[in-house]
Amino acid sequence: MMRAKSKHLPQRTCIACRQIKEKKALIRLVRAENGVAEVDISGKKPGRGAYLCPKKTCWELALRKNRLDYALRTKLYDDNRQILLECGHNLLEES
Ligand SMILES: [Zn+2]
Repeated sequence: MMRAKSKHLPQRTCIACRQIKEKKALIRLVRAENGVAEVDISGKKPGRGAYLCPKKTCWELALRKNRLDYALRTKLYDDNRQILLECGHNLLEES
């Protein structure tokens, strides 16, 4: 899995806009054991993951329209959703 000799870079679909992009161009979110969703900067945390473009529009769409809930097969609490939104804004501003 970790070998880099393949020309085919791993690709993932953004859960908001459905565009397929290189995995490293997307931000991974993961459902932790307690059902709470968190941003996975390393991209290596265990658990069910979902990917989003580093774009505010995708981020907000995914969180406001419950796309993330669906992708992670969980029900996000409002405060969890809020934290993720803020997290996203911080990430997006840095990039
Ligand atoms: Zn997107």
